[in-house]
Amino acid sequence: MGKSSKDKRDRYYRLAKEQGWRARSAFKLLQIEEEFNLFENVKHCVDLCAAPGSWSQVLSRKLIKEGQEDPPKIVAVDLQAMAPLKGIIQIQGDITKQSTAEQIISHFDGKYADLVICDGAPDVTGLHDMDEYIQAQLLLAVIPIALNITTHVLRPGGTFVAKIFRGKDITLLYAQLKIFFKHVTCCKPRSSRNSSIESFIVCQDYQPPKDYVPNMSNPLLDFSYNSTYNNLEGSNRVIVPFLAAGDLSSFDSDQTYPLDKNNNYQPLEPVQSPISPPYKTAIKKKRTNELNKNN
Ligand code: SAM
Repeated sequence: MGKSSKDKRDRYYRLAKEQGWRARSAFKLLQIEEEFNLFENVKHCVDLCAAPGSWSQVLSRKLIKEGQEDPPKIVAVDLQAMAPLKGIIQIQGDITKQSTAEQIISHFDGKYADLVICDGAPDVTGLHDMDEYIQAQLLLAVIPIALNITTHVLRPGGTFVAKIFRGKDITLLYAQLKIFFKHVTCCKPRSSRNSSIESFIVCQDYQPPKDYVPNMSNPLLDFSYNSTYNNLEGSNRVIVPFLAAGDLSSFDSDQTYPLDKNNNYQPLEPVQSPISPPYKTAIKKKRTNELNKNN
């Protein structure tokens, strides 16, 4: 697909380049923030699974003001290296590791985070069949992992926002989140395509159960559950509010828009190319025909 055809098909992809965002996902966070006022009084913030960094860019642009005496501390974590961003402390690390939680906290001078955001998704290899399989296996695991590290770094009363995939077992996830947060809302920003099962969970007022001790290996990550959780009835069944975010006059992410009425359209280069994308090896092998089954 040519650049112009993607620009035409995806208005947010084009807009991201026009406004200097590293990825179109920036609009998802901006639209969620519009609805929930996420950034009010935030002094310590964590961006989990942050690369290439468009959510961190939003945090940097919204939270850090010129000449601020005591600017907020923002820590971004990813397995991948990320190009530097103003005011963002970067950790190249794995969010499943206790040591990463400790590293985050070490930047907060004994304080805990007011806001933790996570746009995590399993890494892609570029081998589509394998990616599809891995994603199916890991999608449900990402949130419990992100929640695990969040319970180490979030202050009581704090907010946690994370990408979710509303699959058939989502009720179990809602139930887990309701144990830790007073308010749990499922939010679909307009920049997230309707054709995708992606949504975002906004969890407000962190109140861990009394005597809860954060632990990276705790049973939140229990793969042994089965779909009967989705059949729970009465007070055992947790249904959270569902909210659409983003002004109704904003672009519809499923619609195609004309490029330019006056024919002045110029394709734009990506704002920040990946430093070392995980799919680099796969692409190289594909080009040299090394992926051929007979090799
Ligand atoms: N929010 C980012 C932005 O706006 O630019 C996009 C995030 S991207 C969809 C998902 C990221 O999750 C990838 O960069 C990947 O490296 C990261 N990731 C996946 N598993 C991880 C883990 N265990 N620890 C840290 N990062 C992880």
